[in-house]
Amino acid sequence: MSTTLAPLTGKSKSPVKIRQTRMLIDGKWINSTSGRTFETINPATGQVIANVAEGESVDVDKAVKAARKAFEAGPWRKMSARERGRLLYKLADLIEENKDELAALETLDNGKPLADSLSADLPLAIDCYRYYGGWADKIEGKTIPITGPYFCYTRHEPIGVVGQIIPWNFPLLMQAWKWGPALAAGCTVVLKPAEQTPLSALRVGELAMEAGIPQGVINIVPGFGETAGAAIAEHMDIDKVAFTGSTEVGKLIMQAAGRSNLKRISLELGGKSPNIIFADSDLDQAVDGSHLGLFLNQGQCCCAGSRLFVERKVHDEFVDRMMKKVKNTKVGDPFDPKTTQGPQISQEQFDKVMSYIKAGQNEGASMLTGGSRVGRQGYFIEPTVFTDVKDEMKIAREEIFGPVMSIIPFKDVDEVIQRGNRTMYGLAAAVWTRDISKAHRLAAELKAGTVWVNCYDVFDAAAPFGGYKMSGIGRELGEYALRNYTEVKTVTIQI
Ligand code: ADP
Repeated sequence: MSTTLAPLTGKSKSPVKIRQTRMLIDGKWINSTSGRTFETINPATGQVIANVAEGESVDVDKAVKAARKAFEAGPWRKMSARERGRLLYKLADLIEENKDELAALETLDNGKPLADSLSADLPLAIDCYRYYGGWADKIEGKTIPITGPYFCYTRHEPIGVVGQIIPWNFPLLMQAWKWGPALAAGCTVVLKPAEQTPLSALRVGELAMEAGIPQGVINIVPGFGETAGAAIAEHMDIDKVAFTGSTEVGKLIMQAAGRSNLKRISLELGGKSPNIIFADSDLDQAVDGSHLGLFLNQGQCCCAGSRLFVERKVHDEFVDRMMKKVKNTKVGDPFDPKTTQGPQISQEQFDKVMSYIKAGQNEGASMLTGGSRVGRQGYFIEPTVFTDVKDEMKIAREEIFGPVMSIIPFKDVDEVIQRGNRTMYGLAAAVWTRDISKAHRLAAELKAGTVWVNCYDVFDAAAPFGGYKMSGIGRELGEYALRNYTEVKTVTIQI
């Protein structure tokens, strides 16, 4: 295995100042009611970065009260929509001004290569705030020609107080996907970042205050899922919950909404996305795109192309080229500019990924490369490639969320459509072909919220993203996401 581990430098320990570890409620930075804190860990070293205020149900209550007051009585409601948009632009500007610091914070807490934080997470997050800043004064209702002497119109009103629970794989970006449309629509927010990665959300909270977003409009309660997260899902005075995370927890959120006040929900959950390579594709392009589609973010993407179907005719050639590419991976210190793959997020995720690698071997798939830990500290795993993978194997059915590629041969179009759709998930899919008819046919027949053709992981704030089946409910990004944060009111006036 030619993967090299760059030595962890002193930089990994304190490459950035930690400015904020408390929670943000009603415009103030405060400790948790219990006074308790939890440790956030550097996944590259396994060492504690900082102790962060541990929010629980009582803190969620306080945050919801602040958000309610800001929604019903505060300046947010009375502010013009254009002014709300301007505040989002201002926040985007401040994030941009502080992008080096934020990228370092993200890399420290999450472990993703600094180059990725700088080239992907930060620009996408900034763009998302700007995109929704533009929407704030363009959320329009309709006039409707009903029968009779009436004037009928709709108003798209903000839904109210919104709880937002986000994961650890793209902390800054998920915060932007949540805050952008919610704030543009005029909602107020209680955000719970993931317990593994609370730091960048808190820093963006400081910048939001600096931008002049009124107190109580955004509140941040760091803490654990079973306590703070569950309290948000159960809360009787939260009007809507937006969640990104596992399908398992997504079900709990939906149940909690049903048990409590029927709060609206949007869920962005797991995936097992088919990535389909036809023999008539540009094979180099397909290899590059499929590599990105699986290994980006250490394989920790809900839309990872983790069922890589390759047409039998080009299977061996594809595997050879992929192996060459994988062997160039530089696993190591995420702050080293040469690094292309950092650590997994946590010991728990490390163990989970390793157990899938074992399952692949036990079930008879061929492991061509990888399979081992890299180094002695942190949670690094070699990029791993399996061939001879069968549809029934665990590694072909379950979400691994790690740098583990499963290459699966197929014979023809009809067969691969059927096998591609044979999953409980439906988040994304990709097709690589030069045949435009084939591309359109697959784009129509694959049951997934996103289909990429001759590309992978192309994200844009304007393009909706979300899942079919057990990959979620609702769409984030684009105009569609505004529906998650608005209620439609019909007004009928006799004339
Ligand atoms: P993962 O398994 O990848 O950590 P999770 O779905 O467990 O993904 O976590 C995503 C987010 O959901 C995190 O912010 C986490 O704290 C939160 N969470 C976990 N369990 C619950 C729960 N029971 N109720 C509400 N939120 C939860």
